[in-house]
Amino acid sequence: MSELQSNLDRLSGHLKQFEGKVLPHRINGEDVTSKNTMQSRSPVDDSVICDVAEGSAADIDAAAKAAHAAFPEWRDMPGKQRKKVLHAVADAIVARADEIALVESWDTGQAIRFMSKAALRGAANFRYFADQAEAARDGQTLPSPDHMNITTRTPIGPVGVITPWNTPFMLSTWKIAPALAAGCTVVHKPAEWSPLTARLLIEIAEEAGLPKGVWNMVNGLGEEAGKALTEHPMIKAVAFVGESSTGSAIMRQGSETLKRVHFELGGKNPVVVFDDANFDRALDAAIFMIYSLNGERCTSSSRVLIQAGIYDRFVAALEDRVHKLRVGHPLDPATEIGPLIHPRHLAKVTSYLDIAKEDGARIAVRGEAGDSDGYFVNPTLYADATQTMRIAQEEIFGPVLTAMKFEDEAEALEIANSVAYGLAGYVWTNDVTRALNFSEGLDAGMIWVNSENVRHLPTPFGGTKASGIGRDGGDWSFDFYMETKNIAIALGEHKITKLGV
Ligand code: NAD
Repeated sequence: MSELQSNLDRLSGHLKQFEGKVLPHRINGEDVTSKNTMQSRSPVDDSVICDVAEGSAADIDAAAKAAHAAFPEWRDMPGKQRKKVLHAVADAIVARADEIALVESWDTGQAIRFMSKAALRGAANFRYFADQAEAARDGQTLPSPDHMNITTRTPIGPVGVITPWNTPFMLSTWKIAPALAAGCTVVHKPAEWSPLTARLLIEIAEEAGLPKGVWNMVNGLGEEAGKALTEHPMIKAVAFVGESSTGSAIMRQGSETLKRVHFELGGKNPVVVFDDANFDRALDAAIFMIYSLNGERCTSSSRVLIQAGIYDRFVAALEDRVHKLRVGHPLDPATEIGPLIHPRHLAKVTSYLDIAKEDGARIAVRGEAGDSDGYFVNPTLYADATQTMRIAQEEIFGPVLTAMKFEDEAEALEIANSVAYGLAGYVWTNDVTRALNFSEGLDAGMIWVNSENVRHLPTPFGGTKASGIGRDGGDWSFDFYMETKNIAIALGEHKITKLGV
C-alpha cells in the first residue's frame, strides 16, 4: 500500500468523529451548539467535512463567564501542579500527533511532511511553558538607597486567544500554553476556515486533567464571535494572530474596555543574498522559506534581494528549483505544496499574475490554479521586480516569490525596509561585520543570518511596524499574560517631607 493510501485510510477513521455532526463549542467542559452553523470544507477536493456551530455574542458571553469563574482556582493552583497538567497535555498531543497531523492536513491543505512536525511542535510549546510555570511569578529585587523594591507578577485574568487558519494547531498552542502556564484562563476563537484541530486540542487538554472552564473554545466568524470576544469586559487581554487590518479592527473593538493586546500580524520578509554568500545554502533556504507550508506562513521569505554579481545565476537556479517543486495531495509524503486554504484565498494569490504583468515584472515561473475541485496552485516566481511594485510590497501569502536586484548594502537596506511590514529578515553573507551592521539596520523583529527560520523557544518572536505589537517566547510571553506589581519597603527611617507642621 502506498504511504498516501495508508494516510488516507487512517484519516478516514479519524474523520468519523466529525462526519454528519455539528462541531460544537466547548464551554465549561460541555459541548454547546448554536442556532446557526457554517461548513468546514477540505481544500483537497472541496468536500464538506462537517457543519460547525457558528458562535454568537451569547456563546462568547457564556465562555467568558466560565473562564472568569474558573480563574481564581487556576490562578491559585501551585505552579508545580500547573506544570504537571501542562506536561500531561504535551504527552497527550504526542500520543495523538498522527491524528492531529492528518486532520490538520485535510482541513488546511498543508503538506503532511510539515504538519507532522507542527503537531510535535505543539507538544514542545506545552512542554516548554510547563517548565516555566513555577517561575512565571518570580519578580526582581531592585534596591534603591531608602527602599527595597520587590516586583511580583500575577496572571492578568481570563484572556481571549484568536488564531488564523495557517498552521492553526501549532499557533493555538503557542498562545494558549503560556497563558495557562502563567495562571490565566482562556477563551479561544479558532479561524473559521480551519476549525478541526482546535477541537482535538481542547479535548486533549480536558482529558489530560485541565479543570472545567479553564479553557473554553467558541467557533464562529471573526466579525461576530471574534468581535464579541474582543469587546467582552471579563476578558482582560487579547492575543491575536492574523492580518494587520484585523489587528486594527481588534484595537478599535477593544478600546472601550481598554483591552491589552498582543498582535502577530502579516509580513513581507526579505531574504538578502550578498555576492559572497554560500550560494547553494542561500538558495535552499530561500526556496524553503517561501514554498514550504504553501507560502501561507507569516515568516515566509516572500522577497529575495540578490546582489548584482550573482543575480542572473541565482534567479536561474531559483527558476530551475521552482519548476521541480512537487505540488500534490497534501497527505502524500512526497508533496511539497498542497492546495491553498480557500477558493477566496486562491483567487487572491492568482490575481497577482495580472498585477505583476501590469506593473512590468517578469513572470519567470507562472503558477496557475489547478483544474481539479481542490484549491491547488502551482508555485510562482516573479523576477526583475522593483521596490514599488505591488508584488514587492503586499503580503500575497501563497507560494509566490518576488526576486529583485541590488548593487550595494545601502540599496539593499533601502529596498528591504521599504515595506509596511517588519516581521523577519534573512541575511546571507560571509562577512560578519556586514552581517551585523545590516541586521542592525533592518527594521524587523527577527533576523536570521546564514539560516532559515529556526525557532528557539526562549527567544523573542514578533514584529515591528504593521507586523505586530509585543513579543512571544520565553519570559516575553509571561510579560503579556501577567500584571507586574512593585512593592517598595522602607529600609529605615528616611526623611519624609513634613507638611502642615
Ligand atoms: P484574519 O485576520 O483574517 O483572521 C484571523 C482570526 O481573526 C480568525 O480567527 C478570524 O475569525 C478572526 N477575526 C477576523 N475579524 C475579526 C474581528 N473583527 N474581531 C475579532 N476577530 C476577528 O487572518 P487569516 O487570514 O486567518 O490569517 C492570515 C494572516 O495571519 C496573514 O496576514 C499572516 O501573515 C498572519 N499571521 C501572522 C503570524 C505572525 O506570527 N506574525 C503568524 C501566522 C499568521
